[in-house]
Amino acid sequence: MKHNFGAGPCILPQNVFKQAAEAVLDFNGLSILEVSHRHKDFVAVMDETLSLVKKALNVPENYSVIFLQGGATLGFTISALNMLRTHNKAAYINTGTWASGAIKEAKKVGIEVDVIASSEDKNFNYIPKNYSVPNEVDFLHFTSNNTIYGTQYHHFPKTSVPLVCDMSSDIFSKEINVEDFDLIYAGAQKNLGPAGATLYIVKNDALGKSTAKFLPSYFDLKAHAEKESMMNTPPVFSIYVAMLNLRHLIQNGGVKEKEKENNQKADLLYNEIDSNPLFFGTVEKEDRSKMNVCFKLHNEQLSASFDEKWKSAGIVGIPGHRSVGGYRASLYNALPLSSVQVLVDVMHDFAQKNA
Ligand SMILES: *Cc1c(COP(=O)(O)O)cnc(C)c1O
Repeated sequence: MKHNFGAGPCILPQNVFKQAAEAVLDFNGLSILEVSHRHKDFVAVMDETLSLVKKALNVPENYSVIFLQGGATLGFTISALNMLRTHNKAAYINTGTWASGAIKEAKKVGIEVDVIASSEDKNFNYIPKNYSVPNEVDFLHFTSNNTIYGTQYHHFPKTSVPLVCDMSSDIFSKEINVEDFDLIYAGAQKNLGPAGATLYIVKNDALGKSTAKFLPSYFDLKAHAEKESMMNTPPVFSIYVAMLNLRHLIQNGGVKEKEKENNQKADLLYNEIDSNPLFFGTVEKEDRSKMNVCFKLHNEQLSASFDEKWKSAGIVGIPGHRSVGGYRASLYNALPLSSVQVLVDVMHDFAQKNA
């Protein structure tokens, strides 16, 4: 077995893979790949998936859960268009590639974007803290976990304007208070399921209020909420596997239990990084992500020999994103503590041999 530290698509529980494989061959006599999305058996899958999301995250009654396609990338546009109000202006916090993508797409649909804070000055290695949110904006958008740079909000922004969040890479990794948000969106492939589905959690009060001049049907969250994510063909297989994964999550103590495990995994790896003389973490300590751990070698000339070591230990997926370099170990929900221990042991041995 490999130890998959990939940033996304990522590891899911082995028994979820097994059940998914079984359903490809036999889902009530058909393959899950050929069943009609209008068939009652799939309607039941969709219903269960929506209610498992609500259960896992304690989603209040007055919120809708929706599954669409297009990834978080289309979420940049969909969130902006649906949350647009009379100011035609929104505040964004720029914490790296994905936040910048959201800013770019909001501008493309004609929204005036006020970037109220940014960590670009230090290659996005921290979460900006000192900023104020103007009142005359329709919403504040931020990215809760910065998958590429390894920073994460440990306290969400406090504001009186509606809060919109790209939670792609840390949703279901810890407890959150959905009520703090008007809209949350997340690509499935980082903690929820395989690529193909995108999750939206939206306050019902926020639906149908967009002032966007053009709002194509597929971009209208109200239309999707009313059709229970069945306006058009949903990503059937991706949703099915997300359902299996959510069942697994809830049977194993839910988000609360995962949060504990994720904290243990992150502590284990950051402790090694901080005590190992060959490596250093690239991010401000207080803003370190528990999902994506970024670190580098002080002496890059050792990298070829370190790469050989982790590869031969069965580790995959830890080279850092090309915009950061170094290493990035993603510790998503399904990655066991034992895999983190393997990486830590490799780093430890490597330091002893290169002392
Ligand atoms: C991966 C990621 C995205 C992009 O998601 P796609 O589903 O590929 O569009 C956006 N935001 C964050 C925070 C991500 O981690």
